[in-house]
Amino acid sequence: MFIEQPPWFYRVMFPGAIWRIPSPEKSIYLTFDDGPIPRITPWVLDLLDKYDIKATFFCVGDNVRKYPDIYKMIRERGHHTGNHTYNHVQGIRFRTKNYLQNVNKANDLIHSNLFRPPHGHMRFPQVCALRKQYKIIMWDVVTRDYSPHMTPNGVLNVVKKYTRNGSVVVFHDSLKAEKNMCKALPPAIEWLQDQGYRFSLFE
Ligand SMILES: [Zn+2]
Repeated sequence: MFIEQPPWFYRVMFPGAIWRIPSPEKSIYLTFDDGPIPRITPWVLDLLDKYDIKATFFCVGDNVRKYPDIYKMIRERGHHTGNHTYNHVQGIRFRTKNYLQNVNKANDLIHSNLFRPPHGHMRFPQVCALRKQYKIIMWDVVTRDYSPHMTPNGVLNVVKKYTRNGSVVVFHDSLKAEKNMCKALPPAIEWLQDQGYRFSLFE
């Protein structure tokens, strides 16, 4: 359960970061990490169009470099994008200076004020430096769609069990998550809509 819904002591390690934004209306924030990927991202975009909802894509800079047309497609279809570093690097494995360089290199392609750290790992000085330039968007629900030990139904059940008003929900438009995400996302969206949730974008 600590993976699906991060506990308070994890949340306080990232002061100023956003995990959840409760509002008077029922709303949630749908997010996708690790794209853009030609085989997956356009499929997700078509699905989101079908349900007429918008999401935020935290992109890996190197994927944006490789697939600029797909990145453009995300923006043109009304979704927001955020920075997920250039090489999907973990802050705790990098010196702060090098980590920030990697983030800035991604920003040269992504041009967003939103940032999400890969694996949720950052050193404190990295958090402090990045929050001056970016809104750090963490998460309230991790679907674990990337896990080979998960099934599509398991992913759907995570959404049903943990989503609450204002939740930031994480899926992945990655090859690793394809098997679970593609099957779980349509029923998850339908369930969320049936519960009366609106799909919001970060300001
Ligand atoms: Zn990631």
